[in-house]
Amino acid sequence: MKLVVKVGTSTLAHATGRLNIKRTQDLCRVLSDLKNAGHEVILVSSGAIGMGVGKLGLREKPTDIPTKQAAAAVGQCELMYTYDRLFTEHNHTVAQILLTGADLSAEDRHENFNNTMSRLLQLGVLPIINENDTIATEEIKVGDNDTLSALVAVSTKADLLVILSDVDGLYDADPHKNADAKLIKHVHGTPEWLNTLAGDVGSALGTGGMKTKLNAAKICVEKQVDMVIANGENPELLYDVVNAKDGNYTRFFAK
Ligand code: GLU
Repeated sequence: MKLVVKVGTSTLAHATGRLNIKRTQDLCRVLSDLKNAGHEVILVSSGAIGMGVGKLGLREKPTDIPTKQAAAAVGQCELMYTYDRLFTEHNHTVAQILLTGADLSAEDRHENFNNTMSRLLQLGVLPIINENDTIATEEIKVGDNDTLSALVAVSTKADLLVILSDVDGLYDADPHKNADAKLIKHVHGTPEWLNTLAGDVGSALGTGGMKTKLNAAKICVEKQVDMVIANGENPELLYDVVNAKDGNYTRFFAK
């Protein structure tokens, strides 16, 4: 299957902004293994700003645009260096693709993106995509990688998008506030009640939250791509997700 996996800063980094080495190693090992098993894998990875914050020794995520973009420029190198090293250990070659919303809405650039992606996959490469944070301004950016990963999944005609997060999936109430909140394992299509479930607070270093994930689910399901929200804490869960085994995660069925 063609699989797009989106990983957020909260999965890749500790609260300090520094790399969570064990987690990232596990993720790269499982994704390499899925590739070895014959799946096509595309990774959409956040973490540029978070890692830049760590590497520059800033005390918190910056709020002004030049510092954010500077942190992204530093962190994106660190991110790709890390992936290149870890995937190389498993004999896989990675490629970096940085996009903005404008690249996907301009027909010619979008076509170039699709052509490059197909060629990379034919060549057996594992493309790693992030928003081009160093140049993206409010007007041209997608803004969050949940939405970006959905656009990538639709554009590359993927079978499945898996969004790895710091929660197990979609709950019927906010699990941080309500101990009785229950995980919703299956969602068919995008029913109206979904709109009532999205809190919108992201983690300290990431951008999304449940709102952007549900928006991603709508984009995917509308275009016949299944989507999963799962906890990135244990990347081994990806085996169950890919093999459609039931587990503690939420699957949005498009078909
Ligand atoms: N592109 C941003 C980064 O790499 C993250 C956006 C997001 O977390 O949704 O830091």
